[in-house]
Amino acid sequence: MKILVINSGSSSLKFQVIDSESEQAMVKGLCERIGIDGVFTYKTDKISIKESVSMRDHTQAVHRLLDALVDPEHGIISDFSEIDVIGHRLVHGGEKFTGSVVVTDEVIQAMTECNDLAPLHNPANLIGVDACRKLMPDTLMVGVFDTAFNQTMEPKAYLYGLPYRYYEKYKIRRYGFHGISHKYVSQRAAQFMGQDPRHVKTIVCHLGNGASISAVKYGKVIDNSMGFTPLEGLVMGTRCGDVDPGALEFLAKKENLDFPQIMAILNQESGVLGISKNFSSDFRELKDAEIKYNEKAALAREIFAYKVAKYVGSYAAAMNGVDNIVFTAGVGENDSDIREEICSYLEFLGITIDELKNREQAEAVRISERSSKVNVLVIRTNEELEIAREAAAVARQAGTVRE
Ligand code: ADP
Repeated sequence: MKILVINSGSSSLKFQVIDSESEQAMVKGLCERIGIDGVFTYKTDKISIKESVSMRDHTQAVHRLLDALVDPEHGIISDFSEIDVIGHRLVHGGEKFTGSVVVTDEVIQAMTECNDLAPLHNPANLIGVDACRKLMPDTLMVGVFDTAFNQTMEPKAYLYGLPYRYYEKYKIRRYGFHGISHKYVSQRAAQFMGQDPRHVKTIVCHLGNGASISAVKYGKVIDNSMGFTPLEGLVMGTRCGDVDPGALEFLAKKENLDFPQIMAILNQESGVLGISKNFSSDFRELKDAEIKYNEKAALAREIFAYKVAKYVGSYAAAMNGVDNIVFTAGVGENDSDIREEICSYLEFLGITIDELKNREQAEAVRISERSSKVNVLVIRTNEELEIAREAAAVARQAGTVRE
């Protein structure tokens, strides 16, 4: 099966075509600056193209990528009918979607009702769906939600200490995000260690610009550090993570700010960027600055690591034990110093790290010593592959594809 994976944002659209048998990407690409000027990137194992192309809207972006796929010179298919399924990354499925679904008019309607919950992401995802439906109306579309894997959380984990009526009335609760990555990584960890995922307790630390941690017990998420929105939890690149709401009221009064202004500070000016006094939200730049004795850059990294360790400790308690701790995403996969610092807080769990292994670069590697009581792993996340797997599974169930 050939699966076109689409991750549509407000002004960009990432895509891959994945062969479900080999699980390899045949092409990876990106349409950027949609509606502005337009930049198109397209890479196969033979060719790499980056060009300026006007893309007025998402439909034009999808048009451009489809043209490239069937291009006689560097295309990978000769006809659109060779694409069996399109898998769309959809950010927020609310409580309605606990798994991946065939995109129908009803699903689009139900997703539109979730727009309120993710006003930055969901409408942008739906524009991508709409563009694909216009241009490939006969191809099966599958929606894969970032919240779905987290839907196994129990009320004790997902309810806030707010009046229950607000959950009943507005579904205000913790949803958790990065579910596609947490699912892929927790399962890959078990596979790598030769374990049955239904018998292990895993903590996944997805540490990128956006960062979240999940506790996955016997294959099911029991907690995730993100909440009603992706703002809760860890200190991130530019997002604040957990903050006492009382401090926000205080700040609003002192600085005469309204809610949109406060939210902009929490989402765009906080995290390691804010702590480092606007030095950078990029962990590489912070590391370079720390070496040159930039105190605030060092403090930002220290706070980040401390917060990750606190969540890992609390999730070990939530699961009454932990077998695997896995680092993934930009920072988790690449920053061996941060990993070492985080693990230094976790010696009480019987964790010992092999310094050489911790500096190895691989798709999957165990960085803990063999004698360590908990396995510590680094695994490269692959959200596109997870979406392709989900899309293929739904297509098989729907019985619409040839093998
Ligand atoms: P997102 O998908 O949330 O935008 P990523 O998972 O791509 O984020 O992670 C981006 C972060 O990863 C950036 O802060 C970047 O500095 C960090 N990163 C990437 N490579 C390295 C590296 N070699 N060392 C330290 N940090 C890195």
